[in-house]
Amino acid sequence: MMCCVMMNRLVDKNARIFVAGGNGLVGSAVIRQLEKQGYTNILSPSHGKLELMDRVAVEKFFRTHCPEYVVLAAARVGGIHANNTYPAEFIYQNLMIQNHVIHESWRHNVSRLIFLGSSCMYPKLCPQPMREEDLMTGLLEPTNSPYAMAKITGVEMCRSYNRQYGTSYISVIPTNLYGPNDNFDLETSHVLPALIRKFHEAKMSDSPSVVVWGTGSPKREFLHVNDLADACILLLNSGLKAIHKDSMIFNIGSGMEISIGELAGLIKSIVGYEGTIIFDPSKPDGTPRKLVDSSRVNAMGWHSKIQLADGIIKTYEWFLNNNIGKR
Ligand code: GDP
Repeated sequence: MMCCVMMNRLVDKNARIFVAGGNGLVGSAVIRQLEKQGYTNILSPSHGKLELMDRVAVEKFFRTHCPEYVVLAAARVGGIHANNTYPAEFIYQNLMIQNHVIHESWRHNVSRLIFLGSSCMYPKLCPQPMREEDLMTGLLEPTNSPYAMAKITGVEMCRSYNRQYGTSYISVIPTNLYGPNDNFDLETSHVLPALIRKFHEAKMSDSPSVVVWGTGSPKREFLHVNDLADACILLLNSGLKAIHKDSMIFNIGSGMEISIGELAGLIKSIVGYEGTIIFDPSKPDGTPRKLVDSSRVNAMGWHSKIQLADGIIKTYEWFLNNNIGKR
């Protein structure tokens, strides 16, 4: 059920838009796409300039700069190994960041906020494709439940502020993302950047094989981050007003699922590596599938545009141009 109505409203091109997490994968894409669309007044202090875990600093930032719109893309993020290794940091840091930014947004009359959730908020064994109504209907995947719990809390916080204070804060639930400015560190990254790096380095060093974690059978849906950024800007502009104030949640996915084994084959051929792939089943597979149902946002006119192979080619180019990894 779609519990929102569309109203005509456009974000002024000179509006003050605070993109929290502007150096990250998502935040940098949102800034890139906002600039491309002619927005001129984007606020995005670096982590060094504004510590989002410091409530006093966040309050001062809002008081001084009075943002009118907020895209909350700042988060402690990481792949399956990082989530599994640093669970306390993942829950604490994400709760702190989002509590401060959401609460100060409300205190300073921010009319529209976009909160970035994650598809790992859905139950581990959720029926596929996962619909927004499926949130909180089952147990979470244990490797990333601290992160997922923090993100679920953020969604609930947006819903609660909408209900009690009449705000119109939107939560988006992107599927697995990739693109420029991704994290390519093998210990902490997600699978797609990790495999770009592994195949590239194996090619450069003439290694006979590349190890891919897990069995290769889990499936994931991938979305280029520019497509996500376009969806966020569309929602920022949508003028949606919740009728039932708890419905402003949107999955954002490409609809394209691929197994980790197939993904490894695709990246191997794009990188031009000729050795073999070895699966390491001693590493966790994580959740078996994570496909989101994007029909809500599709109905608003957004569809992903970037095909997976094209997106990987562009991301590999970015990786090479930015001198990441050993040559
Ligand atoms: P997830 O989507 O939250 O499970 O996070 P990841 O992107 O880290 O992992 C997705 C899947 O890719 C899991 O089944 C991993 O075991 C698998 N995988 C295979 N090789 C790698 C690798 O080198 N790094 C990561 N992060 N995952 C890998």
